[in-house]
Amino acid sequence: MPRTAIISDIHANLHALHAVMEDCQHQQCTDVVCLGDVVGYNAYPSECLDYIRQLNCPVVKGNHDEEVVSASMTMMNPMARLAMEWTRAQLNEDQLAWLARLQYVRIVRHSGASTFGIVHSCLEQPKSWNYIINANDASTNFPKQFAPLCFHGHTHIPKVFMWDGRHAVEDYDAVHPLYLEGQMEFTPRPGLKYFINVGSVGQPRDHDPRACYAIYDTDRNTITMRRVEYDIAAAQQAIRDCGLPEYLAERLQNGS
Ligand code: ZN
Repeated sequence: MPRTAIISDIHANLHALHAVMEDCQHQQCTDVVCLGDVVGYNAYPSECLDYIRQLNCPVVKGNHDEEVVSASMTMMNPMARLAMEWTRAQLNEDQLAWLARLQYVRIVRHSGASTFGIVHSCLEQPKSWNYIINANDASTNFPKQFAPLCFHGHTHIPKVFMWDGRHAVEDYDAVHPLYLEGQMEFTPRPGLKYFINVGSVGQPRDHDPRACYAIYDTDRNTITMRRVEYDIAAAQQAIRDCGLPEYLAERLQNGS
């Protein structure tokens, strides 16, 4: 009966993480997997890292998880770097070592059930942190995807891409109800491959400020995405209280 919650891009937003995990319980999820970017941007990197770590679940590395342990931070704009330096100061050696050990790609196996892939950005050059924004971008992923399903994050925007053997297509219809009703559900069709972006728990960027995550039910063969309300004002106040840039607080309420 695996019913797996797939969460991504928590970004140190403890209020959003708690709300999503509570929703997972109501939804009777049996497992959790995490697609990376546990830290960065928000006020609770240490608490979110410890929370995910104690779940003892499959986790892949995100670009923020990598940057916070590397000395360079060359890829980042000044504001992101400032937030990253603050984040690093909140983490101890043991926590940084845990982040450093995360793998880029994992295959998740449930006993007696199908397997699926997880990656933060893309299966093609996962260390390059490419953004898969449209079907053309997704077409680079599918030749490296051997399982029918693979889940990713990184853009913070929920999407469903399909591969029919020759072309990558974005399934807008599947995601549409998420914006109307706060939930969508679809059944993957046999013979196609799916590359599914589960959105972001801690910093949504699709103009819906609610936290977002997915549930893969292997018995029913369905994928559900859900939006979850959380205390945005409290998460914003925490950002201000630690002196992180105001913009990081503002974007939470705009979902941008
Ligand atoms: Zn992210």
